[in-house]
Amino acid sequence: MKVIVDESRCVGAGMCVRTSEQVFDQHDEDGTVVLLDDTPPADTHDAVRKAAMLCPAAAIVLESA
Ligand code: SF4
Repeated sequence: MKVIVDESRCVGAGMCVRTSEQVFDQHDEDGTVVLLDDTPPADTHDAVRKAAMLCPAAAIVLESA
């Protein structure tokens, strides 16, 4: 899995961080997303898919490897 985030779309809602804090973090200043791992391990994939689904800005795009 390859994870791509479009920071320009991100509204800083933080759903992704709450869903998978192994893969996502937020900037301290404005709460926008920080991608910690763009090729996360298999045991995070379900949570990452959920984060992409829940993101209100559709800022998280997943590509299968
Ligand atoms: S859930 Fe989407 S909009 Fe919210 S912080 Fe994460 S990437 Fe940004």
